[in-house]
Amino acid sequence: MQVAVFSTESYDRQFLDAVNTATNANHEFIFHETRLEAKTATLATGCEAVCVFVNDDLGSETLKILAEQGTRLVALRCTGFNNVDLQVAAEVGIKVVRVTAYSPYSVAEFAIGMILMLNRKLHKAFNRGRDDNFSLNGLLGFDLHDRTVGIVGTGKIGIIISQILHGFGCHLLGYDPYPNPQFEEIGDTRYVDLPELLANSEIISLHCPLTPENYHLINAKTIAQMKPGVMLINTSRGQLIDTKAAIEGIKSGIIGYFGIDVYEQEEHIFFKDLSDTVIQDDTFQLLQSFQNVLITSHQAFFTEEALNDIATTTLSNITDFEQGKPLPNEVKLPEKVSAKAYSIDTGTRRHGDTGM
Ligand code: NAD
Repeated sequence: MQVAVFSTESYDRQFLDAVNTATNANHEFIFHETRLEAKTATLATGCEAVCVFVNDDLGSETLKILAEQGTRLVALRCTGFNNVDLQVAAEVGIKVVRVTAYSPYSVAEFAIGMILMLNRKLHKAFNRGRDDNFSLNGLLGFDLHDRTVGIVGTGKIGIIISQILHGFGCHLLGYDPYPNPQFEEIGDTRYVDLPELLANSEIISLHCPLTPENYHLINAKTIAQMKPGVMLINTSRGQLIDTKAAIEGIKSGIIGYFGIDVYEQEEHIFFKDLSDTVIQDDTFQLLQSFQNVLITSHQAFFTEEALNDIATTTLSNITDFEQGKPLPNEVKLPEKVSAKAYSIDTGTRRHGDTGM
């Protein structure tokens, strides 16, 4: 099948081509670096499928153009489908498939890396060492052992980070509207309500999907409930945090450390080399200026294992469609759930099917 692949980076090409060859799938990929949106949709003319990523725009206008040009399948190389208007896709006869799961270790381990880097100031130590500055002043950290960590969302990733933190000797508080028995089996873990988690955690890590209900879950009010000096880590979705409120929290000292792999307006910044441009997003620039802030560009998923899982599932989704087989990874608009309620993120709070 001819597939127009958008937002292609060299690694996407490498993993998709490798799995295409290894499985004899024989799909013809037409790689585009550009993001899919209404004004680039004509690049998919004649392609029965498009293959897209987190920041491609599959809103109503794009989907209608794709349908007119003959596209019948949207294959997401990610788990979340907040960027697809499912209602319109159904109306114009385009099926949507996604990668329901891939290495959750990738994200959990990355979040641990952010915690350690912010706490032990490894980024500063590295830069100082390059300057032959071996002073320890300003590098003081704290033991993770015996600290209380709040995990918001105890699904696949939340469970793994909890297991790792248990190994460090941390006490774990969990908040999840759909409690997961695996969390309590880890030991030294306790489900609490969100205010209790916020009030008692020295580190808070977000591992829930973005839904209409939890947009700006972290806001001025919830930040005010946190322990002064708290470390806040977000590897989930940018819109879980009201960035302006977080900036106020950092300035007042309530947030002592802020590590984010996702950002509210990331589609204008992440996955691009902007090193010779002036970034126009003032909020982002202000965040970048703080010494206790670590920003990475939606990188947590980026391991060989995860990319291989993503490519394998994507190829099999496309092949199933081509061969008219059932689509186990199809994203359907559930009855009784409005398109609006489904438009922010994955729209589901079940375990096992949300993500990047
Ligand atoms: P999962 O579906 O296995 O678990 C999500 C958990 O969050 C579920 O237990 C669910 O009940 C819970 N939840 C839902 N709403 C909640 C709320 N308001 N408050 C607290 N908990 C809530 O998903 P996962 O695979 O563990 O992924 C978690 C998130 O990680 C994804 O939704 C995605 O946003 C993010 N993610 C980021 C990257 C990255 O590269 N940065 C990669 C993959 C996933």
